[in-house]
Amino acid sequence: MSAFTAEHKSHSFEGSLMPWAEPSWHTRPSPYYNDSHRHLRDVIRKWVVDNVDTETWEAAGEVPRSIYHKCAADGLLVPISFGRKIPAEYANYPIIGGIKAEDWDGFHDFVLWDELYRGGAISSIFVGLTVGAPPLREYASPELKAEILPQILNGEKRICLAITEPSAGSDVRNITTTAEKDGDVYVVNGEKKWITNGIFSDYFMTAVRTGGSGAGGISMLLINRHLPGIKCRKIEIGAGKLSATTYITFEDVRVPAKYLIGQENAGFRLIMSNFNHERLWIVFQALRGARTCLEDAMKWAQKREVFGTVLIEQPVVRHKFGLCAKKVEGLQAWTEQVVYELDQLSEAEGNRLLGGVTALLKVEAGMVGKFVADECVKIMGGLGLTKTGQGSRIEAISRGVIGLIVPGGSEDVMIDLGVREALKLSRAQQKAAAKL
Ligand SMILES: Cc1cc2nc3c(=O)[nH]c(=O)nc-3n(C[C@H](O)[C@H](O)[C@H](O)COP(=O)(O)OP(=O)(O)OC[C@H]3O[C@@H](n4cnc5c(N)ncnc54)[C@H](O)[C@@H]3O)c2cc1C
Repeated sequence: MSAFTAEHKSHSFEGSLMPWAEPSWHTRPSPYYNDSHRHLRDVIRKWVVDNVDTETWEAAGEVPRSIYHKCAADGLLVPISFGRKIPAEYANYPIIGGIKAEDWDGFHDFVLWDELYRGGAISSIFVGLTVGAPPLREYASPELKAEILPQILNGEKRICLAITEPSAGSDVRNITTTAEKDGDVYVVNGEKKWITNGIFSDYFMTAVRTGGSGAGGISMLLINRHLPGIKCRKIEIGAGKLSATTYITFEDVRVPAKYLIGQENAGFRLIMSNFNHERLWIVFQALRGARTCLEDAMKWAQKREVFGTVLIEQPVVRHKFGLCAKKVEGLQAWTEQVVYELDQLSEAEGNRLLGGVTALLKVEAGMVGKFVADECVKIMGGLGLTKTGQGSRIEAISRGVIGLIVPGGSEDVMIDLGVREALKLSRAQQKAAAKL
């Protein structure tokens, strides 16, 4: 998302001293974070400084494959695949910072992404993994997990999530890619669009129609990208060109039936619950993007002389910062509350109680991200529209901010989902209360 230039690399590992550039827990008390989170923050921040070179990668049009292997060796892939809980059986894989699997929690996940997002494009190579691996680890048969998951966690193979089609995005119930059973294989035909990391992935975690119309006819199938009948082509999008957004065509692709994830025709619920972590992860991205904009705009506002004084001396400019700051700090507090609640709940209860809340949180993140980016572009003047120099990160973030709003569930659909889920919970509570 943001460009991480040589100039920005000179920042100390302590973080930025600009107001609101860092979350308050870095310098003030918080009930949520402990020394393990602080240690992780410092380790990843150093890792990003040492390993990320967005400018060179963007010029080359790709992230070198060697970086992905380094991510595996340095213990990034396991936490990215598992999110907020790392099961004991994966404790023997490297975990960044030497954090023990049993200690890893939702705040480690938050810290991990907050720091990775400082590195801009590094995050784009993990999108497929973070949304594609969870169905495998949660719902695949033990045999399939044993076969595929080690390859993914070792960084030998890569995975992405393929739900959206040219004719079905928000309306997942209406996907048309078919998987017809023929003995012990499924024959897959159809198309998937806007699949992040598709071109360089070895596996597609794919939504297919195995039954009748609607949600009840959808299954998840893991498809090996190297099977005959699969074609991939890159889709050029405005921002995030290192994400390798891909159009995939399946023509009579014969996928062994053992690659079914979960039960046949039971894929819809699985897809919906998978969205929750994706949405939270978009929130983490929005927060770091907004703080980066505030950091660079505040530096500039203290430097730029206009009409005989520096910008920050103008009350209107201070007002802009104040409006941005209260939105960012509000979003941070709400996010921490949701992360905390998820840590206290089982996976199923977290999905049931917080699916709608997470949808609304994601909407708020998109709105805050856009508001802050727009205001900071204005504060930067022409520099806010310039791809190099002191406005470069703000320029990149403002260009990419729509990527927080449309993918992962678009704004209007998420608002509606949030309200419907709240009503569902309220009605269930009313019914339970009436029985007492
Ligand atoms: C950069 C990028 C990366 C992506 N990565 C992936 C990926 O890795 N895997 C994947 O499967 N998909 C991916 N997507 C697809 C993304 O999830 C969809 O674009 C998104 O779900 C919206 O679907 P759509 O584009 O078909 O829009 P539509 O569903 O056609 O919606 C268009 C507009 O109508 C609104 N709308 C739709 N229904 C309603 C309603 N009921 N009420 C009110 N408004 C409504 C929407 O909010 C939206 O604003 C990606 C998309 C982009 C742009």
